[in-house]
Amino acid sequence: MGKSDKDKASKVVADSLRARSERDAGYREKALKLYPHICGRCGREFSGKNLQELTVHHRDHDHDNNPADGSNWELLCVYCHDNEHQRQVEAQQGYISSGNGESAAATHSPFADLKSMLEKKKK
Ligand SMILES: [Zn+2]
Ligand SMILES: [Zn+2]
Repeated sequence: MGKSDKDKASKVVADSLRARSERDAGYREKALKLYPHICGRCGREFSGKNLQELTVHHRDHDHDNNPADGSNWELLCVYCHDNEHQRQVEAQQGYISSGNGESAAATHSPFADLKSMLEKKKK
């Protein structure tokens, strides 16, 4: 009895994993059809084997928001995609002012702000 329960459980896991990867592959394929195979940030072009480095970014960061017109998708290479999410994290932490975050970060130490922010939080 225990064995069949276990089999059932692992089937459920396998099914949900498969559903997830099918869904992911589904929107990636659509996005690749809609948009030129160019990174939206650095402008690198992708083709053939390289194409796996081109990923689909969700503009609103909601991976379940996949409108058919592709308005929530942006093709980014893995590096720029990483950057994009890193920037989002930093913006949420509030130590880079919105707008021109890059120049703000370059002109003063983000860690000084971070430190005072952490100290504020402790209170
Ligand atoms: Zn890029
Ligand atoms: Zn993304």
